[in-house]
Amino acid sequence: MQLNDCIEIISITLYAAGQASSVRGDQKHPNQIKTSARAHTNDEPDSADGSSIIELTVQFIDPSRRLNDSQTLELIKKHPSIIKHACRQAGKGLFGEKIKQARLPHVLEHLIIDLFVQDRAKQYAGNTAWSDRKVGIATIRIGLPESLGEVTDTGYSIYQQLISSAVNELNEFCMAGNVSHFNE
Ligand SMILES: [Zn+2]
Repeated sequence: MQLNDCIEIISITLYAAGQASSVRGDQKHPNQIKTSARAHTNDEPDSADGSSIIELTVQFIDPSRRLNDSQTLELIKKHPSIIKHACRQAGKGLFGEKIKQARLPHVLEHLIIDLFVQDRAKQYAGNTAWSDRKVGIATIRIGLPESLGEVTDTGYSIYQQLISSAVNELNEFCMAGNVSHFNE
C-alpha cells in the first residue's frame, strides 16, 4: 500500500455458492449484506447452483470519498460498457444512471465486473455492502459462472489480477487529487 492509496485489499476469497466457508483465502464469509447491486445477470450471486463466488474485503481509507464528475467521465471513457450494466442498487436501472452518486465500493464492484466481462466474455453478478462503514471496510461479492472445481489456479490468478487492476485504477484517481466527498 502506497502513501496516498485510498483503497486497500484486505482479503480475496473464493467459495462455492451457498457455502459459508472459504476455500481459498482466510477470511470467513461475512453475513451482513445490506444492499444489493447487480450487473449483467438477474441472478443473486449466491443463489445459482453449482456456481462459485469471489469475495473481496477492501478498506476505503476515507469512506465518504467519491469520484468527482471529471473523474467519473474519465472512467466511463476508459470503460464505456460500465454504464450499460444492469444495477439494482436503489431500484432497477442501469449503472449509468447511478454512477455519479455511487460510492467508491459500488464503483469498484462495477469496474471489477467490467474487467471480468471484457477479459472472460462471460456474465457476472455482484453485490456490495459496508461491513463496517465507520472504518471504511466493504465487502464485494461477485458470482462467477464457473463452479468451484472449474476455477483453475490460473483462472483464479487472472481474477485476482483483474481485481488488483481495478483497485489500482481507482487508487490512481485518488492520488490525482481534486478530491470530492459525500456530505455526511
Ligand atoms: Zn450497481
